[in-house]
Amino acid sequence: PATFTKTFDTPTYKGTITIPLGLYINGQHVDPVEGGSIEVVNPSTGKVITSIAAGTKADIDIAATAAEKAYKTSWGLRVSGTERGKLLFKLADLMEQRIDQFAALDALANGKAYKTAYGRDNTGGIAVLRYYAGWADKISGKTIETNDKKLSYTRHEPIGVVGQIIPWNVPMFSLTLKIAPALATGNTIVLKPSELTPLSALLFTTLIEEAGFPPGVINIVNGYGPTAGQAISEHPIIRKVTFTGSTLTGRKIMEAAAKSNLKPVTLELGGKSPTVIFDDVDLEQAVKWAIHGIYFNHGQNCSAGSRIFVQEGIYDAFLKQFTEQALAIKVGDPFQEETYQGPQVSQTQFDRIMGYIEAGKVDGAKVHLGGNRIGNEGYFIQPTIFTECQPHMKIVREEIFGPVACILKFKTEEEVIEQANDTTYGLAASVFTKDIDKGFRVAHAIEAGNMWINCSNQAEIQMPFGGYKQSGIGRELGEYALENYTHVKAVHVNLGLRL
Ligand code: NAD
Repeated sequence: PATFTKTFDTPTYKGTITIPLGLYINGQHVDPVEGGSIEVVNPSTGKVITSIAAGTKADIDIAATAAEKAYKTSWGLRVSGTERGKLLFKLADLMEQRIDQFAALDALANGKAYKTAYGRDNTGGIAVLRYYAGWADKISGKTIETNDKKLSYTRHEPIGVVGQIIPWNVPMFSLTLKIAPALATGNTIVLKPSELTPLSALLFTTLIEEAGFPPGVINIVNGYGPTAGQAISEHPIIRKVTFTGSTLTGRKIMEAAAKSNLKPVTLELGGKSPTVIFDDVDLEQAVKWAIHGIYFNHGQNCSAGSRIFVQEGIYDAFLKQFTEQALAIKVGDPFQEETYQGPQVSQTQFDRIMGYIEAGKVDGAKVHLGGNRIGNEGYFIQPTIFTECQPHMKIVREEIFGPVACILKFKTEEEVIEQANDTTYGLAASVFTKDIDKGFRVAHAIEAGNMWINCSNQAEIQMPFGGYKQSGIGRELGEYALENYTHVKAVHVNLGLRL
């Protein structure tokens, strides 16, 4: 299969990167059976970067078969946890040696600032590999007392072949947080990256063999969702699927899983997370965190604090400072040193966000700041603030996934808890207050999988991450994620019971 080479000469990254363009199946780069391709677009310009191979059902079949063979012959419990951990540590070292290349490819295809791609996504991804490398030799069951004629214990066994489908907003962090716990617990993998940001995943495929993974243990198959993604969800050999992406797609995946072999699903889906600011806050800090909450990663965050509830006594002062800081956000070329916000990832996402901005106006909300595209090339959008928002409005109810904040005024704690929970989502929430009792009270009353007191958009690799309600099923990261990839077997040993 072909390769792609690009030379960068930018303020943040200079160098030449070569990546394979084929599918990575059974330890080799191969052309797809049906010969399809995907054009990868640079969102800063709207121009095509390169075309990569697109897999379909036929390729997922080959990958799943290779993964099953690897599971039965060269991975699973045949390989000790210590050895599995060693390979994951090696993979992390190899990724670290090329972290600048990973960051450059993500800045190029995703449009995020190179510095963010380097310092957060990829640094985080390497840390995740090491975190689960450390777990690999610590997977254990329990002995459970039943009666003295019996030895009863549990084993945490791998599931087998697992399918993993990831989005584009944090490409390498998503990839590593999916594969690392699955490998640590002894599973083999068929993973599909997002068709929008496949380049860093392709670079990653070049490290797998060098790290020492046997062929077929990690298969990375690019392709479109309705073809390759669907084939993963309904594949009879694949015994589990973990997915991160939109709630709409999550529903389809669960349906395909149920209709095929009833494989269990872990779903990390969308959100419409509330940020609650009480009167008694440290205003300067609350504004900074609220800005980070909504505008980080161009608003393309599942846990973005997109509904900002501000108590009436501090509303005007908050809005003034929040507006000043939103105005000061540096939007531009992802490879410039000072860039905080690059373009939105694609024409589709750009159109979606602009559509929501129109809907906000039609519904009677006020564009307090921004609301327009920037320039006439690429997918850049002004940091936008809507005021005079009402709970029924589309912009308040639906996930926009862009740099658009909705600000709502509230009076009482009871009222804001009710409004914060008035959503089909439940991924995350922030509360800002200096009153410690109130902080905990509100944190416990909001229905969300992640709760931040006096901060926002926090994820720690040791802490579980996931959603309530239609934001998902299950938890990733931390020790909790190991449960996604193991079966618990209860073993009863007769020590003298007689019939
Ligand atoms: P998406 O659902 O469109 O796509 C995600 C992945 O699913 C892609 O790889 C895509 O190719 C694949 N896919 C699409 N249709 C499919 C189908 N029918 N069957 C199987 N796979 C299919 O989401 P996106 O636009 O890539 O990502 C944005 C969404 O992801 C947002 O809603 C965001 O909130 C969510 N997200 C959630 C988390 C979380 O941890 N909860 C993290 C990041 C992003």
